[in-house]
Amino acid sequence: AEHPLFNARLRSPNVTQSFSTNDFSDVIAADKAHVWHHLTQHKQYESTDPRIMIEGKGMRLWDATGREHLDGVSGGVWTVNVGYGRESIADAVRDQLVKLNYFAQSAGSIPGAQFAERLISKMPGMSRVYYVNSGSEANEKAFKMVRQIAHKRYGGKKHKILYRERDYHGSTISTISAGGQFERNAQYGPYTPGFLEVPHCLEYRTQWDVENYGERAADAIEEVILREGPDTVGAICLEPVTAGGGVITPPVGYWQRVQEICRKYDILLHIDEVVCGVGRTGKWFGYQHYGIEPDFVTMAKGVASGYAAIACLVTNEKVFDLFKEDATDPLAMFRDISTFGGCTAGPAAALENLRIIEDEGLLDNTTAMGDRLMANLNALADKHAVVGQARGLGLFCGLELVSDRASKTPAPEAQVQAVVADCMRQGVIIGATARAIPGFNNTLCLAPALIATADDIDAITHAIDEALGNVF
Ligand code: PLP
Repeated sequence: AEHPLFNARLRSPNVTQSFSTNDFSDVIAADKAHVWHHLTQHKQYESTDPRIMIEGKGMRLWDATGREHLDGVSGGVWTVNVGYGRESIADAVRDQLVKLNYFAQSAGSIPGAQFAERLISKMPGMSRVYYVNSGSEANEKAFKMVRQIAHKRYGGKKHKILYRERDYHGSTISTISAGGQFERNAQYGPYTPGFLEVPHCLEYRTQWDVENYGERAADAIEEVILREGPDTVGAICLEPVTAGGGVITPPVGYWQRVQEICRKYDILLHIDEVVCGVGRTGKWFGYQHYGIEPDFVTMAKGVASGYAAIACLVTNEKVFDLFKEDATDPLAMFRDISTFGGCTAGPAAALENLRIIEDEGLLDNTTAMGDRLMANLNALADKHAVVGQARGLGLFCGLELVSDRASKTPAPEAQVQAVVADCMRQGVIIGATARAIPGFNNTLCLAPALIATADDIDAITHAIDEALGNVF
């Protein structure tokens, strides 16, 4: 049955290339024999056909079997914001690489300086860009700065860092120590000391049945601060919209209260924009929807849309100045380096990525297409009893599935994965958020590229509509 909103052909008329079924059996054999894949149970992988992606153009991908896919999750993990096959980014990177590929970031580079200037122009109140390679690393650097500030200013005491249940900040030991998703942390302890959890802010699964839910959820942060002692808490690290932890859009009043609490107790505010950053929510950064004034902003995935590995830690001048004090003390500066922070391909790609977003009006497109996606998802909620709630901001949306609406019992993981697989069978790639948290493994996740058209959006939600009908 065709969903009434469906008016798209999966195969875009603009795509001229057709991918012939070359024989990739040697590649598949090498992959199966030697590659250890991320987030993969290899016992299961052994018995499935590997999915090796070969080519991409715009929103579409072709795999080693020649199959075409419409990508609803921008490279699987919400990264390829400007879409595949951008020759101008490839050209910018190539031109830079043949000129100068690398010099340690203790010195400067042309694209490093130019991208920093352009980025800061989108972030009023912020002033400094620290180049690294991954979201985890950017967050680690911010944690290190917080610890160093505690030593500089507070005799080491104000060193604790708060994080939120269901937020994710990376895969290293310290970032999982700041990670609110149980299944990603279990078995990797002992953790870095001094990280403390505050409650999540998902009203749909609230523990507080109150009118002013957003403020109440933020007050829970203040309770932790008071319990620990405000003079021991240096910073709080939060995602503007919790991404992998279930697509949790913040409730009304939440962020204003968080900002007040940070000011009241002199706590540095670290916003993790690794997912929301660089346009995904319809503004340059997710925090810009809420009038927040952060001290640290970290970003990675969308900075160069995956055309080069680049991540940034951005600070304000207040933070930066602390590390300039006492130039005679060799320990006063930020004594830190990241070798590949000096790769010039990253900022060269990022600069062109930013130009594309601007010149093609992709922020406005994200807002318009995000509204369409939410409308489509709400229509699915009306049609399918298994949908508990649709949530999202811009082109980052989730659909929480429940077996029973009244009790909000989460839909079983196997069925959620069956929906993802059914969409894949139809040629549409969607995701499901982090699994194995009891009760919280049940949210379908959508993050199409910011270039998505109305037809693309409708094709994605049509596939989900069909899949929900097939599975439930
Ligand atoms: N922060 C958030 C919000 C993320 O979603 C991720 C990755 O998914 C990270 C940090 C870690 O980024 P990376 O995988 O580049 O280390």
